Amino acid sequence: MKRPTSPARILARGDEGFETALLGTSFNARDPGRRPDLIVQARSVEDVIAAVQRARDEGLSIGICSGGHSWAQNHIRDGGLLLDLSRLNSLAINAAERTAVIGPACLAGELNAALARRKLFFPVAHAYTVGMGGFLLQGGFGWNSRVNGLACQSVIGIDVVLADGTLVHASEQENADLLWAARGAGPGFFGVVVGFHLKLQPRPRFVGLKLQVFRIRHLEAVMAWADEAGPTVSPKVEFQMVFNRRALGIAAHGLEVFAPVLADSYREARDAVAFMESSPVRGKASLSLPLIPMSLEMMMKTGEKTLFLPNTRWTTDSMWMDGPITPLLPALRQIANSQPAAPSHALWLNWNPPASRPDMAFSLEARTYLALYGGLRTEGSTPADEAWATDHMRALEPYSAGIQLADENLGRRPAPFMAAANRDRLEVLRSHYDPEGRFKPYMRPAA
Ligand SMILES: Cc1cc2nc3c(=O)[nH]c(=O)nc-3n(C[C@H](O)[C@H](O)[C@H](O)COP(=O)(O)OP(=O)(O)OC[C@H]3O[C@@H](n4cnc5c(N)ncnc54)[C@H](O)[C@@H]3O)c2cc1C
Repeated sequence: MKRPTSPARILARGDEGFETALLGTSFNARDPGRRPDLIVQARSVEDVIAAVQRARDEGLSIGICSGGHSWAQNHIRDGGLLLDLSRLNSLAINAAERTAVIGPACLAGELNAALARRKLFFPVAHAYTVGMGGFLLQGGFGWNSRVNGLACQSVIGIDVVLADGTLVHASEQENADLLWAARGAGPGFFGVVVGFHLKLQPRPRFVGLKLQVFRIRHLEAVMAWADEAGPTVSPKVEFQMVFNRRALGIAAHGLEVFAPVLADSYREARDAVAFMESSPVRGKASLSLPLIPMSLEMMMKTGEKTLFLPNTRWTTDSMWMDGPITPLLPALRQIANSQPAAPSHALWLNWNPPASRPDMAFSLEARTYLALYGGLRTEGSTPADEAWATDHMRALEPYSAGIQLADENLGRRPAPFMAAANRDRLEVLRSHYDPEGRFKPYMRPAA
């Protein structure tokens, strides 16, 4: 293999530091066992172009990582070149025009903090350290996304290095089909996005959290209530529930019912979460906190310190559901009973999307969402712990409308993640923009 002339750091398999550089790209501490031939740590757009040209010259396929938060470690593949973009983390805000241009490895928390100082807002990911690159490409279920739309809907342009090494800009006026694909293709996008142009919003004036915690024995009653209440809950409230073996306030197996709310005033927020105080299950709560004002930054950091611990071997899987929750209650009870120790958790989310969205690759969502995050921290975990997320989601497939690419597990369990017509169009665009299949496609289970 030719040695590099580019200023980027390049490591070949077998080089000292290769393993550390590879596994260091991943938030998930699991070693997937897969190994690329080369890692290119790009420091500039020129490095990216040089890496893509080199891959083309040498017939190498390309995997890409920005923030490295793919639960499935989609970027760590066998063979080819891993393009590590984690140093491309620029951030420039134009407050007057309410726009920003960010590098793909800009972190959700960094963008949020910079915008908060200017009273501006973008629906960033819920955890501080998520990379904006992968988050935006898969759709982006961000803060206040039920009000402001998926984050990808606020991407107004992208700068992309294509498979032939050319750098192009795409917007709704120019190369519009590339922007269409970048709004939802996620880990199957066929180019390297080196810049995202974002439309910003005014910042909601009040952010707060209401919390109730129930012992796990109340699972059926609480879930049935939440499922029924969901459609009438204000879109300003991110109504959700977490099954946790070490639930907040009770340090025992329980259900944490969270209602973060982003509103224009305390009063509006209080009214939006009032349904939790008048609910039929209110009397069963072991803990019920009033609406507490809290910065988004604090919520992002706290969530990451409690639920999404680093140095953890994660396996995640998910499903969208349109039907009522009642037939799933026995399965949800089994999910809770077999739940591994914290930080493993299950998330139920009230989504109730709008009747339509702009035309874009992202095209599959439903009324409610269930995700299992199996997070193992000790070596002594059982095969059942390892398979917890995948096996339960497989068992629930008859009730599933598909998955989110945010929590994809395609390498273990293939599932629909886009409307069939959009998937077909995406593959036509892939053949056009990447005719030699330079970029790694969606993962599939090993044969
Ligand atoms: C703790 C945690 C919290 C999360 N919270 C949320 C949330 O609130 N909402 C939500 O929607 N998702 C959330 N996710 C999922 C997350 O958005 C996705 O895993 C996303 O891919 C992460 O982006 P990344 O750049 O960090 O990931 P990466 O692992 O770097 O990227 C994932 C894949 O996207 C593609 N990709 C990434 N960057 C580029 C690029 N520049 N050009 C072309 N292709 C690229 C590659 O195929 C790559 O393998 C969360 C994940 C974690 C681990």
